[in-house]
Amino acid sequence: MNYQKTIEEIYVESQEFPKIGEVSASIPELKNISPDKFGIFISTHEGTEFGKGDFQEKISIQSVSKVFTLCLAFSILGEKIWQRVNVEPSGNAFNSLVQLENEKGIPRNPFINAGAIVIADILLSHLKNPKEDFLEFIREISGKKNIQFNQKVALSEKQTGYRNFALGNFLKSFGNIENKVEDVLDFYFHQCSVEMTCEELAHAFYFLANEGKTKSGKTILNKSQIKRLNALMLTCGFYDESGEFAYKVGLPGKSGIGGAIVAVLPRKFAVATWSPRLNEKGNSEAGMYALELLTTKLGISIF
Ligand code: GLU
Repeated sequence: MNYQKTIEEIYVESQEFPKIGEVSASIPELKNISPDKFGIFISTHEGTEFGKGDFQEKISIQSVSKVFTLCLAFSILGEKIWQRVNVEPSGNAFNSLVQLENEKGIPRNPFINAGAIVIADILLSHLKNPKEDFLEFIREISGKKNIQFNQKVALSEKQTGYRNFALGNFLKSFGNIENKVEDVLDFYFHQCSVEMTCEELAHAFYFLANEGKTKSGKTILNKSQIKRLNALMLTCGFYDESGEFAYKVGLPGKSGIGGAIVAVLPRKFAVATWSPRLNEKGNSEAGMYALELLTTKLGISIF
């Protein structure tokens, strides 16, 4: 498999890709990211790694963090977490309130905001030092000690996160939040504000492509749990565009409004892309294109 040649070709073709979409405007502190950044990094099962473009620049990981919190909660509580959050695609916007009313406070899945807020509540109830323990978890799976929150981004979201506060309060009214809504959202805004490079993201997701084992050999989740996590990323990882991503790319993955996309091909590789311009569904258009090129050129996907 000639990964290096493929990554280089993808980089060139992505530079020619039309400049579709805008940088997310929902968090004021993120508005100033330069829109035309592009990075890609792949970490393979054979031990080879290739990066191109801005793959060593820190990105606000935003919703990609929902995979990390879910893995951590799943590793602590196992199947019990599904009593409080479902595993179905939502077919609605990531921050929608409508479905919650009809479904009595049980979010459709852990990757829409309502679901991620419930997972944040679970972590708050089970971790001694939630924020620090969460950072330690990401540092462990990525093998990078320098991973941090961006306090300015967390504060900026806290000051403007009216809809997430609405979701938190709504969930609490249904009895699906145990802690103080304010504390849960403080944790949630911090998890979203974590900054990582494409290289660090690909390393952190590697265990999802490696039957639960990190690059350094530590088991985080068992094979059956990995199957469940990857199934959820395939069906729910791309907001209301998960079908489109599965159709075009054919890999489980997760996107964030900072422009990152991380995807895995089980037993083959973990790959991360970054391009801050988002389409109207909230996904990085050039990132999706790059990953479509990757599975097409390599001729491999989960299908
Ligand atoms: N912090 C953002 C929010 O809750 C994350 C959105 C995203 O990346 O999808 O709205």
